[in-house]
Amino acid sequence: MKSLMPFLSAGPMTLRYLSVFDGDNVRKGLVDITIDAGKIARIAASDDPTGRIEGPEIDLRGYYALPGFIDAHTHLVGGDVVQGAADYASSRRTGEAIGMQAFRTAEAARLTLSRGVTTVRDLTGRAYLDVQVRDAIAEGIVEGPRVLTSGLGLTITGGHVHMRCVEVDGPKEVRREVRSHVKAGVDWIKLMGVTGGMATVGRHPLAPQFTRKEIRAGVDEAHRANLRVAAHAHGPEGIRNAVLEGVDTIEHGIYLDDNAAEIMAEKGLVLVPTLLNEKGWIDGLAAGTLPAAAIARRQAFADEGFPYPTPEQRIAMARKHGVRVIAGTDVGGNANCRHGMNAIEMAMLADAGMSNIEALRAGTSASAEALGLKDCGRIAVGLPADIVLSARDISNDIHCLSAPETIAAVFKGGRLAAAADPKLRRAFDRVTA
Ligand SMILES: [Zn+2]
Repeated sequence: MKSLMPFLSAGPMTLRYLSVFDGDNVRKGLVDITIDAGKIARIAASDDPTGRIEGPEIDLRGYYALPGFIDAHTHLVGGDVVQGAADYASSRRTGEAIGMQAFRTAEAARLTLSRGVTTVRDLTGRAYLDVQVRDAIAEGIVEGPRVLTSGLGLTITGGHVHMRCVEVDGPKEVRREVRSHVKAGVDWIKLMGVTGGMATVGRHPLAPQFTRKEIRAGVDEAHRANLRVAAHAHGPEGIRNAVLEGVDTIEHGIYLDDNAAEIMAEKGLVLVPTLLNEKGWIDGLAAGTLPAAAIARRQAFADEGFPYPTPEQRIAMARKHGVRVIAGTDVGGNANCRHGMNAIEMAMLADAGMSNIEALRAGTSASAEALGLKDCGRIAVGLPADIVLSARDISNDIHCLSAPETIAAVFKGGRLAAAADPKLRRAFDRVTA
């Protein structure tokens, strides 16, 4: 396959003397990783006397290797939301020419990869630009992560994010729209209108939208085509509806309660809490960049008896019942939750109650398992070499993920996708010279 990104070496090469978090645990001692034909060919202790080093060696003493990160909830299409825009349409540039939207999408994909995210699941875009950017990346026309696509979200007429979704009513229309999505080549189906949300004025985030019969039709049709279903759901009733009708992941789940969490755990369902979206809110509030109407709206929910739970409360609710939690950010979903910030989600998960290692798993191996991906999320022999290099020990200090410069270099499928660290760039140049 053609690619914009080079292999450093035509044959095998070995990254030496690394400290490694392999997706599950931190390996003991220093480790050598041999990459060949885009895959991880060998992993061995650097002091293994029987070790045979293949190809050029790169001395990476002092660097830490992690699997490429997985962001389970992005909105690449159209790039970042415009800060300070007066309304939804202008914040999402809904009137913009599709070509310009495609360029913004490609740039968001490039930035995402350069920050160490080698796989994303993209959950609602425009005009199937997610499918097209996925294929353009795979073809080597533009740079970006592996993309699991969902096309456009499905919502009820006037439902959550109807401005950006396909409005469908009744099981028959839901089924037909899922079939259209299958025809367009998506990987997942996003059911947006399972409950209301914060972004759509006039629709209560706790109120269910799709009926159970509508959800059932969507899930049945998606599963028959071997696709999985992600459900946007805030209120417990909507979460229950979605879980009982067989969706595969719950997105946000802000008002998850004991009963809904129990049902999720029973069915082995994964929660994608999108905490970075909340950071966008907190930062926006501090910076004074949030629209007054949005602030008033959230206050009104609190006055009704539904105060917005903190990230700690939300993660505690899930963990209390054994609900698995994975990292997904909602980048591109609000003005302060921006492309390239993806890895901060793992630090936020740690702040909200996970250990550093659990949070790193949530953005690597656990996420791969939850999304049904067998070829990423781990540094393991036989898998594509999706590897992040850092000069800092992220497994001990996960907060350094908030600084973009923590990501020193990124390999995707064994190709060098980014090398922000000048010392590493020089080391890599010596190999290619
Ligand atoms: Zn979203």
